[in-house]
Amino acid sequence: MSGSVKFSTASDALDAAQVPFRTVYTGARIPVVGLGTFGSDRFSGDEIAASVKTAISLGYRHIDCAAVYGNEHLIGEALREVLSSGVVRREDLWITSKLWNNKHAEADVIPAFEKSLHELGLDYLDLYLIHWPFPNYHAPGVDVTSRDPHAVPYIHDNYMKTWHQLEKLVDQGLVRHIGTSNMTIPKLKLLLRDARIKPACNEMELHPHFQQPELYQFVVDQGIVPIGYSPIGSPRRPDRDKTPDDTVDIEDPVIVRIAERLNVHPAYVCIAWAVQRGQVPIPFSVKREQIRSNLHAAITMPLTEADMQEIAGIDKNCRLIKGQVFLWNGARDWEDLWDVDGVIPS
Ligand code: NDP
Repeated sequence: MSGSVKFSTASDALDAAQVPFRTVYTGARIPVVGLGTFGSDRFSGDEIAASVKTAISLGYRHIDCAAVYGNEHLIGEALREVLSSGVVRREDLWITSKLWNNKHAEADVIPAFEKSLHELGLDYLDLYLIHWPFPNYHAPGVDVTSRDPHAVPYIHDNYMKTWHQLEKLVDQGLVRHIGTSNMTIPKLKLLLRDARIKPACNEMELHPHFQQPELYQFVVDQGIVPIGYSPIGSPRRPDRDKTPDDTVDIEDPVIVRIAERLNVHPAYVCIAWAVQRGQVPIPFSVKREQIRSNLHAAITMPLTEADMQEIAGIDKNCRLIKGQVFLWNGARDWEDLWDVDGVIPS
């Protein structure tokens, strides 16, 4: 990975100090845009590690990683190169990783975390998330029909055992913040009731066609920072996450019209909307011009109040990452993963 050219700031970099941030309840500041690193089973680890270096050279300071993406060892090489250049200090970066579903057992959590930390070449993480609230595993690259024969519904006592291991990581100074991902209001209420250390961030699917207004407001009201995944509507998501009824954010007439007025790509409008609404989008790209554009969109605040209101009106409640591969025997359909009736199915 380490190229012969020493890491440096790009000549067309954006000023990292101009990138807005959100303040989490500890007082720490999370940059409002992060680089996603899930290659949707389509992009190689080397391509993604290269995009991490490109992003940091362009002014990104926030990288969203996960053990299951299978590329943390390569991102670690990229981060080592960046940090050894002296251009960026560790404390300038916000690095997130996530505990994968097959490591929820009490004895597995800390070793899984240590593996991520070691592969990323760091001595602490800014944020460690439980990736999904279920211990249900799928192998990389499976299709939508794949099921884990041991899959189970959400079991709160078990989730808390996992959470308490994350709390230990905070106590040990190995993680600055812990958080959740793919949660619902009923599950978060239980966690908030029982957690000693409350979640700092909740990572959730958020884009103009899936705005999750209730969950978003609940999270904000609890002082939790919402991190929005698939902010552009994940046009390259794995085939298992595509269904015929899915809508396409970047083809929405409202998004396209605003983009034409601003002379930008519709993706730019999606990122600007996310930042101006108040969440932290984590767009993925391996293309330099897209990576730069996504950061630029966060700095310029180009949308008017009327634009924001119009985009609020195009929510289609279209969840893209439905999670079918995490279903358990006896579940009705993917909506059971998301407590759509306000009740956690057992
Ligand atoms: P995104 O909405 O970020 O879509 C990424 C795709 O959008 C790219 O591959 C690219 O398509 C296109 N794109 C990106 N920037 C631009 C641009 N400026 N102009 C035009 N097109 C653009 O979806 P992801 O699903 O990749 O989500 C982002 C990140 O969120 C992931 O990488 C991961 O880190 C995180 N995530 C977390 C989940 C969780 O469970 N916690 C679940 C899913 C994602 P193309 O390559 O065709 O140009």
